Parts: sequence; C-alpha cells; structure tokens
Amino acid sequence: MFNALIMEKNDDGLASATIKEIGEDQLPEGNVTVAIEYSTVNYKDGLCLSAKGGGLVRNYPHVPGIDFAGTVESSDDDRYKAGDKVVLTGWRVGEMHWGGYAQKARVNADWLVPLPAGLTPQQAMAVGTAGFTSMLAVMALEDHGLKPGQGPVLVTGAAGGVGSVATAILANLGYEVAGVTGRPDTEDYLKSLGATQIVPREDLNETTKRPLEAETWAGCVDAVGGEMLARVLGQMKYGGSVSAVGLAGGAGLPATVIPFLLRGVNLLGIDSVMQPYENRLRAWERIAKDLPMDKLEAMVKPATLSDLPQLGADILQGLVKGRVVVDVNA
Ligand code: NDP
Repeated sequence: MFNALIMEKNDDGLASATIKEIGEDQLPEGNVTVAIEYSTVNYKDGLCLSAKGGGLVRNYPHVPGIDFAGTVESSDDDRYKAGDKVVLTGWRVGEMHWGGYAQKARVNADWLVPLPAGLTPQQAMAVGTAGFTSMLAVMALEDHGLKPGQGPVLVTGAAGGVGSVATAILANLGYEVAGVTGRPDTEDYLKSLGATQIVPREDLNETTKRPLEAETWAGCVDAVGGEMLARVLGQMKYGGSVSAVGLAGGAGLPATVIPFLLRGVNLLGIDSVMQPYENRLRAWERIAKDLPMDKLEAMVKPATLSDLPQLGADILQGLVKGRVVVDVNA
C-alpha cells in the first residue's frame, strides 16, 4: 500500500483532492515501476489540481503531478533496472496519465531519463519542468547566436519557476540579466540569483502603437506571453531571439510582424512536453553543469502532499516564488 493524492469528481461535477492509501493493483499500465521520492509544483500542476482540471485532465479519479524523480523499483525494459535513479517530466504525465503526487508510479520507459550525474532526485525536482524548460529556452537562444557581451537578456515572470531558473542559468553563463517582475519585494531575491536589472511589470504590460521601440534586449526568455511578449518583440536588438515559453499573462499575441521584417527578430517556440529523448539528455546534462546548485537551493520551498491543493491555487495566482519541492514520503 502507498499514499497518493487523488482528484475525484464530486456530485457537483467539480474535482477535489484527497490523500488516500491505495494498492499497486490500482497503478496504471506501464513497463517501469518507480518509487517516487520527490515531485514539484508547476503552473500546469495548478491547473490539474483545480476543480475543473484546467482543461488538461480527461479522466477521474486522477493523480496529478507532471514531474517526479525517484528510484526504479522494477522494470520490464532493458534500459532500466531496479535501483536506477530516474527523472520524468512531460509526456502528459499528471494530465492524461497518472502523475507524481504519489509514492509510486508506473510509466512507459520511453518517458524516463536517467538522473544526470551530480544531481539528486531532490535537486532534479527543484529544477522540474519549469527549470528543464528554462534550459531548453536558453539552449534555443544560444543555437540562434546569443553570446555573453551582446547586451542584456530579459527574463519575464522572473520570480516564478521558469523565470527564477532562467535567471540563475543565464547569470552563471555570464549574461547580463534583466528580470521583469510584478512583485517589487522579490528584487533582493532576483539579484541573489544574478539579475542585475529589475524591470517593473507595469513598464511592459501595456501595448504601444509603436511597432518598434529602442533596441534594448539581446535575447529574452518569456514566461508571460500576451501583451508583454508583443511589447518585448518591438524592443529586441537587431537579430535577437525570444524564447516563448509561457502564457502566465495571456495566450494572445497582439503584435505586428514589423520586428521580424525590419530587425530580423526570431520568435522561438519552446515545448518541454514532447521533447525528443536526445534533447532531454542534452538539457539535463547542461542543467547539471550550468545551474549553480547554491542558487537552486535558494529558490526552493519544501512541501508535502497535503500542501498541494493550496499550492496549486497559489501558483495560478502568481503567488509562488521560485520552485516548490514536494517530499511525497513526508
Ligand atoms: P509561475 O507561476 O511559477 O511563474 C509565472 C510568473 O509569471 C509569476 O511568478 C509572475 O512573475 C508572472 N506573472 C503571473 N501572472 C502574470 C500576469 N498576469 N502578467 C505578467 N506576469 C505575470 O509558473 P511557471 O514558472 O511554472 O510557468 C510559467 C509559464 O510557463 C506558465 O504559463 C506555464 O504554463 C509555462 N510553461 C510552459 C512550458 C512549455 O513547455 N512551454 C513548460 C513550463 C511552463 P512575477 O511575480 O515575477 O511577475
């Protein structure tokens, strides 16, 4: 028997969470069973923990948790054996499939990545989908020519999960980082992660009629989307790239094509869910190498399964700072 946080639909059609003790016979099909040690809370987890499942959860009862890290307990796949440390992000685990808010999971071996040398399961969940995606976003900027010394790199939603990790990685790689935040009280935190400039959210969340403004940013990791992304596109330096990661501020894009046509600006789409295995390995290896662990630890808030309903509501309101690490065995 083991504990799992289970979302079940009530008579009113809305879902709510209960921690239950269940048996292995209730695990879904799969060829690897993992003893989960840690999970985390991403924006998407907030949606999956909400009463309507954020349009992501199809079937109830459901175990959310889009990420987990732990130890293989048994495996019918040659790539994994009992005792291997593994991490899982994406593949719609925690949305369509049962996820990481439990002490055990059974999954398809194709979805797993061996934990990179130098990272513990706890650190891997401090990274989680948010941090993994930040690394994909930074790699995309580099692949499009970004190098230190070209000017400031903007990170939007800087005090959130994606933003915090992106800030720490970029600063460690020698970039000058400007963080956009709507929470002025996070200034010291963002500076401790390596940001040298803090941009108030209100400076960037209003549209302007001018399609081009002063060339300011050499690159951008954008967790916000919407009007802020539209505004940022018009402020990019010639040939600069924006990694579009998130929609915390909206899914619209009220922009013009002028920055693309007159400044050769690149808008790079970043998806973490369906990333091919080779890219996942590359990103996790870069995380182990380029994300300073002391900075990662400074952004972590510990939690347990019973904290999750509240944390889910908080992250949807933009109230979670940095990263949450959930000890599923606490
Ligand atoms: P968080 O809630 O931790 O961070 C989002 C941050 O965005 C907030 O902390 C806040 O930062 C800022 N923000 C929130 N609301 C607004 C608003 N209305 N206007 C402007 N800024 C706002 O979430 P995550 O970091 O986990 O995820 C960020 C986004 O990235 C989400 O949209 C998520 O769905 C997406 N995502 C996409 C992935 C992909 O594969 N493409 C993978 C992972 C995440 P501050 O307080 O500093 O202003």
